[in-house]
Amino acid sequence: MARAQRPIYLDYAATTPVDPRVIDRMAGFLGVEGLFANPSSVTHAPGRAARAAVEEARHEVAALIGARDREVYFTSGATESNNLAWRGLAASRRDRGCHLVTSRIEHASVLDTARALEAEGFRVTYVPCNREGRVEPERVREALTPETLLCSVMHVNNETGVIQDIAAIGGLCRDRGIPFHVDAVQSAGKLPIDLSELPVDLMSFSAHKVYGPKGIGALYVRHDPGLVLEPLIRGGGQERGLRAGTLATHQIVGLGTAFRIAREEGEADAARIRQLRDALWERLSRLDQVHLNGGGAPRACGHLSASFNAVNGESLIFFLGNLAVAQGSACSSARGEPSHVLQAMGLSPGEAESTLRITLGRFTTPEEIEIAAERIIQAYTRLAAIAPGSGRRHAG
Ligand SMILES: *Cc1c(COP(=O)(O)O)cnc(C)c1O
Repeated sequence: MARAQRPIYLDYAATTPVDPRVIDRMAGFLGVEGLFANPSSVTHAPGRAARAAVEEARHEVAALIGARDREVYFTSGATESNNLAWRGLAASRRDRGCHLVTSRIEHASVLDTARALEAEGFRVTYVPCNREGRVEPERVREALTPETLLCSVMHVNNETGVIQDIAAIGGLCRDRGIPFHVDAVQSAGKLPIDLSELPVDLMSFSAHKVYGPKGIGALYVRHDPGLVLEPLIRGGGQERGLRAGTLATHQIVGLGTAFRIAREEGEADAARIRQLRDALWERLSRLDQVHLNGGGAPRACGHLSASFNAVNGESLIFFLGNLAVAQGSACSSARGEPSHVLQAMGLSPGEAESTLRITLGRFTTPEEIEIAAERIIQAYTRLAAIAPGSGRRHAG
């Protein structure tokens, strides 16, 4: 098959390619010659070897985040981890209250779960963020009540890269005995996370945002007899009864290898990525009516959310050719709705629609950034020149 020119992929927040070292490792667990045995089949040596590989992967995940191995549970991804944290706790703590607290800028897997629980009779407070996309701990404090059974705030926002103060928010929850859940999908492997220090009780992870495969993730559950989750999926009792289903050995070792590489190379990766990201913004910031979202807040290394206010985002993306960038998050663009995150930050629906989310990663090269900068500048300048109201954004 003839192949068009390879796209310049700048959508790492939606998913990443799998690191070749991860693919190599995974391949050893699939075929006839490989360790394909069921890790629960401990009656034979192949099963025990597969089990050992699963436990090694669990250790790699725990090592990256400062957890103990037994605090890590494998799931099908962060969507499931978030569902499990919320529903698992809501079900086990029903008698203690019916109130949950989260923020307005969470991922759909949290917000949709929150809405479903509301329909089932729970009450949810959605704490706003400020104009820089930060959830102020003070606002969270105001939302916590004696009936609150869970507080859930993400670590790094997937659209803006803004880092939330989970230490401060977790401290407020800990003082009140309220379990604190954090969606750490966008921060794992990019920012240091030390759960032996952080006041966090539940934390969600995904492999495919960290150069691992899709369809595998983990939930950290702090070892605490008072912290009990009701399982969502029942069956053969795998994962100590919290998550039944045959362990996906190749996926799990993929996750483990990806997290090991992140532990060894994440810091150097982040420094390089940040430099490229800042160089790209340096060029784009010279354009008229272009605004960096969350620019005044601490941000993770790879995210660049910029509103190109003189034009419509969809047209801009159209003229970018084979530059793979996002308009909001992958989920909000699939729904065709302007980003709830940007609107929570005070952007109008039009401004949100004029926004590009550009996210860089391990395989981004300086050449790609050079081409991306030129392409965006050229497309924006042309579109802005023909926009109705000569440079004023056309709503619609
Ligand atoms: C991608 C993402 C998820 C969902 O993870 P999956 O493993 O794809 O289910 C959850 N939260 C955030 C912040 C994400 O970026």
